[in-house]
Amino acid sequence: MQFETVIGLEVHVQLNTKTKMFCGCPTSFGAEPNAHTCPVCLALPGALPVPNREAFVKAVKLGRAIEATVHTRSVFDRKNYFYPDLPKGYQISQLHHPIVEHGHLLIDYDDGTQKKIGITRAHLEEDAGKNIHDGSVSKVDLNRAGTPLLEIVSEPDLRSANEAVLYLKKLHAIVRYLKISDANMQEGSFRCDANVSIRPRGETKLYTRVEIKNLNSFKFIQKAIEYEVARQSEAWEDGEYEQKVWQETRLYDSVKNETRSMRGKEESADYRYFPDPDQTAVVLDSSIWQDAAELPELPDQKRARYIESWALSAYDAGVITADLDLVAYFEDLMKHKIAPKNAVAWLTTELLGRLNKSGIAIGSTPISPTQLAELITRIEDNTVSAKAAKEVLDEMILSGLSADGAIDKLGLKQVDDDGAILSAIEEVLTANNDSLARYQNGETKLFGFFVGQVMKTSGGKANPAKVNTLLKQRIG
Ligand code: ADP
Ligand code: ZN
Ligand code: MG
Repeated sequence: MQFETVIGLEVHVQLNTKTKMFCGCPTSFGAEPNAHTCPVCLALPGALPVPNREAFVKAVKLGRAIEATVHTRSVFDRKNYFYPDLPKGYQISQLHHPIVEHGHLLIDYDDGTQKKIGITRAHLEEDAGKNIHDGSVSKVDLNRAGTPLLEIVSEPDLRSANEAVLYLKKLHAIVRYLKISDANMQEGSFRCDANVSIRPRGETKLYTRVEIKNLNSFKFIQKAIEYEVARQSEAWEDGEYEQKVWQETRLYDSVKNETRSMRGKEESADYRYFPDPDQTAVVLDSSIWQDAAELPELPDQKRARYIESWALSAYDAGVITADLDLVAYFEDLMKHKIAPKNAVAWLTTELLGRLNKSGIAIGSTPISPTQLAELITRIEDNTVSAKAAKEVLDEMILSGLSADGAIDKLGLKQVDDDGAILSAIEEVLTANNDSLARYQNGETKLFGFFVGQVMKTSGGKANPAKVNTLLKQRIG
């Protein structure tokens, strides 16, 4: 049986507002447990919620960035369930009248083509607190309770684990560009639930979905989905689909690389949703629209501009624009009037390659854009060969020397002077009399051999273009 994978993602983005969704408590991280609480987020009787204007501005920006319908009027509902980190016994969310509906984004394949993925809705809600289990004692920290979340729900338009990751990367970039969240996945400010089902190829109806909760890295999302697709397909092949695949919530265990059942999936009726009687509908006034009017250049626009004005490949433009730190670095680099092609190669292949090996993020790189631009300039003005420049970069990272300093220290300055190259040519020709004779009898492919020998004789320092020219003049 040929199966098709069907995936829809729910992403919770923690908005970087100064205060919580319905009270004035700060959202900053790292305070003493329960220091950032008040009668509203502690759920004391009689305390009333007041919606946070800044959260609305940020939700409107997201809505505009994904070309969605942004509703002037939205309504908060109570989603009822019991859990110790939820003192009210309900979460305030938006079910029937979310602020944002019917958007989309484009995912980028490596070959430069794109696919449109629908976004069903994005609604505002509040986060819960945190339960801390400490031996036999369990404690609750409500500092996070009431922090604003924007939940962004995709259509079931994704067809593989890879597409799911591409979608998340694009959404992550959009959120970071808009500066509405720090979107730090390890700290949980950008977390994802993946809904996964399979169906026979050609089928158009949706089959039973399983929800995998709280995935917090691109790698784990990929693996969790792949595991789940394999589990469901095997169950089908074994004739056990009905018994083994049912609507439930599963957790991904990254150590064992498997998903495990956590609980049966609640339907929305289980939550007894109803409009929060403490609040009226929120109607956006013109000042909110004004504050959300200006959007920065977004990832797709930036990518198109890089391709258009610097002739980058779609792939390279995609790699750089996916990450705001890389964007900042690259745009600094390009201020130094170097060839875009060299800037991309030396940033993504050489510098990033080295940083990744040492687990250093581009944001903390020891080589500044100016320093890297100096090195690239030395390649472009033929002071060093591209090959030698790789050693120079290693030395710069190791010793903190400038490009020129490292070139001097390693003695890798390219030999450009005709006399030195000519004498290397003579040396090589004398030592390879036979080859020279064969060359002169028509074995023209030996030319490359001579170039190689001259480069070797010069200790790799001769300017290869010059070696070619002078050798051509000398042996024809
Ligand atoms: P809930 O909160 O109950 O999980 P939501 O509507 O918030 O419901 O999210 C449902 C998610 O599941 C959406 O992303 C949707 O695209 C996805 N989805 C729905 N049906 C399927 C299916 N059969 N296979 C995969 N994903 C699905
Ligand atoms: Zn509070
Ligand atoms: Mg869900």
